[in-house]
Amino acid sequence: MSNQLLDRVVAEIADEMAQRADRGEVASYIPELARVDPRRFGLVVIDADGHVAAAGDSDVPFSIQSISKVFTLTLALGKAGDRLWHRVGREPSGSAFNSIVQLEHERGIPRNPFINAGAIAVTDLILSGHQPREALGEILRFMQFLAGDSSIAIDEAVARSEQRTGFRNAALANYMKSFGVLDNPVEYTLGVYFHHCAIAMSCRQLAMAGRFLAHSGQNPSTGHNVVSSERARRINALMLTCGHYDGSGEFAYRVGLPGKSGVGGGVLAVAPGRASIAVWAPGLDAAGNSHLGRVALEALTKRMGWSIFGV
Ligand code: GLU
Repeated sequence: MSNQLLDRVVAEIADEMAQRADRGEVASYIPELARVDPRRFGLVVIDADGHVAAAGDSDVPFSIQSISKVFTLTLALGKAGDRLWHRVGREPSGSAFNSIVQLEHERGIPRNPFINAGAIAVTDLILSGHQPREALGEILRFMQFLAGDSSIAIDEAVARSEQRTGFRNAALANYMKSFGVLDNPVEYTLGVYFHHCAIAMSCRQLAMAGRFLAHSGQNPSTGHNVVSSERARRINALMLTCGHYDGSGEFAYRVGLPGKSGVGGGVLAVAPGRASIAVWAPGLDAAGNSHLGRVALEALTKRMGWSIFGV
């Protein structure tokens, strides 16, 4: 019965989104992303029993971009534990994803692991003690393991496109390096960062990979304990407060779930105890978050009664 309700709601939302004219603007500062068709839309919800409700372009891989930061944070916490918080904070930034002003005030320590500066600092920690290729392999294998799908790959054209044009990220990284926050050569850290942002995944693969966050650190189908329940709870808290940059308050207000967006137009959202959700709609709003992704998630949580703040 509840499977039927979920299937119906997901299909309805996909139909509604197909008819919307307000689709936002596809990111163009990474030239390769500007080629994506703004009419694309995919939605996948995987509930606690492993039931998959999917609609639209649910199996089309897209550039996960900053959604990768959830997984690099998970890996870095596994590696360094609470020592990670010496180099990156846990507060919402209230500024754009690639803002540099705050870094000066805060002496090179980024506000949180989900703004670009914070994610670059997290990547640097994963890189330490490895060659860039090994660190990248570790991140990619982690994604493949979580999604149960070894076909997940990096889109090299997107990585090269960002590498050629990522001047702002290079500025952030050099600035942090000047404060001693990064341990590795800046070009190595940036290379790994650009490549993990360029991982391509479908909504189905992404929703699978996010299941451990919805279920206290464990994948309920495989029984794999990915992280402790405490760590999953904390990652979710950071997604709620910082996962949508300067739009995090609006996302919490409208959707009411922990979520992480990427400029490729994807969002991974977590309904604790209930479901892992991935949505993809490439057009972005002014804060750089998927416009219809947010609209679709708002409709989903409302109709299913899934907001963490109450029905
Ligand atoms: N690779 C992108 C950048 O660093 C990620 C930004 C995002 O997805 O929000 O600019």
